[in-house]
Amino acid sequence: MLGPMRLGAFDLVVAGAGIVGLAHAAEGLRRGLRVAVVERDAFARGASVRNFGHGCVTGQAGEALGYAKVARERWLELGRLAGFYAEPTGTVVAARSAEELAVLREFAAAGVAPVEVLDADGVRARVPVRAKALVGGAFLPWDVRVNPREAVGAIARWLAAEGVTFFWRTAALEAAPGVLRTARGELAAPAIVLATGHDLDRLYPEIAERAEVRRCVLQMLRVAAPLAPGGLAVERFGPGVLTGLSLLRYAGFADCPSLPALRARFEAERPDLLAVDMNLMFTQLPDGDLLIGDTHERAVTHHPFHDERVDDLLLAETADLLGVPVAELAVRERWRGCYATAPDREFLVESPLAGVRVVAVTTGIGMTTCHGLAAQVVADLCA
Ligand SMILES: Cc1cc2nc3c(=O)[nH]c(=O)nc-3n(C[C@H](O)[C@H](O)[C@H](O)COP(=O)(O)OP(=O)(O)OC[C@H]3O[C@@H](n4cnc5c(N)ncnc54)[C@H](O)[C@@H]3O)c2cc1C
Repeated sequence: MLGPMRLGAFDLVVAGAGIVGLAHAAEGLRRGLRVAVVERDAFARGASVRNFGHGCVTGQAGEALGYAKVARERWLELGRLAGFYAEPTGTVVAARSAEELAVLREFAAAGVAPVEVLDADGVRARVPVRAKALVGGAFLPWDVRVNPREAVGAIARWLAAEGVTFFWRTAALEAAPGVLRTARGELAAPAIVLATGHDLDRLYPEIAERAEVRRCVLQMLRVAAPLAPGGLAVERFGPGVLTGLSLLRYAGFADCPSLPALRARFEAERPDLLAVDMNLMFTQLPDGDLLIGDTHERAVTHHPFHDERVDDLLLAETADLLGVPVAELAVRERWRGCYATAPDREFLVESPLAGVRVVAVTTGIGMTTCHGLAAQVVADLCA
């Protein structure tokens, strides 16, 4: 009887060619290892290409902040090496209430990260926010931006050119000691990383259940930038744009004394936004289009139906933020993204077998932190 096909022997095998998997492959390459990547699709089409491309370094705390600082440098280096848009643009947070500005002032005073508090003109000079309610904001210079549409593909091509072996359209089925079994055969390696994103429960349901991992689905849109007159006064801008809803979300702002008052204001005035767990923000693609979003819904398995009312709410809020009529926002694309989410943890790293790591970012900060997380995991696994 024929045994399983042997696909090769490597030092490190990674399953999943999203940004978390590729970050591990890049760390292996950096250490001079023979690396292979196994991806079930013909190209990565998961969370890593559906996001804002926002490296939200400043908003992180604890372990995530440490990873984000490493990831920032790696993104800028990879952008140069692999040839994709990766820039130290910083972020602008637009404040539309006294509470939002108070949180930003408190965060600046805490001195954890560099923060430039801005008045309304300072915000308007940097990004196309023309909201009537704008009272000021802050510039966060640590943050970076990448083009999510090109970054993952460019990194994969660069890794392949540097000697990493890719097995596309090849599903990982099972890790055994020293072997990854795939739909095409076996890869031998003393170190195996399973970075299959929100589908980690397909391979390791017990790990997913123990950590209470669920799928978080987000609605996103791409709109043509509304041009002046009556549209954007700043046509090309680098920084990602966050809002007061972002301050409620990111751990870095959690200790600001005015945060409870800000939350209470949203609860009183905009329960509709909290009901869809909106993080109103946008970034710009190199062609000028805006990536706008997002909303969050958590479940193990989601119904497949797209709620247009949620898109309408996102469009209305974005139009208000930009200070343009909704009718000026021409929608070019709509999609839903999905990432792994778990209560009380931002990262899941489990070792079901010696030499095997199951790795997932379990909140929406995988672009921000991936390279720092990977550096830690590979250093531990391949020591
Ligand atoms: C709408 C949206 C907006 C976001 N915005 C941001 C942001 O601005 N900043 C930020 O830091 N983070 C953001 N995130 C989060 C970030 O995108 C994710 O944390 C990150 O992309 C997760 O990367 P990943 O490689 O784990 O997952 P994915 O990109 O989903 O990749 C997993 C890969 O594994 C493959 N795979 C699965 N199972 C198998 C198998 N059995 N065999 C082989 N391959 C397999 C899949 O095909 C896929 O290519 C956002 C996410 C979404 C959805």
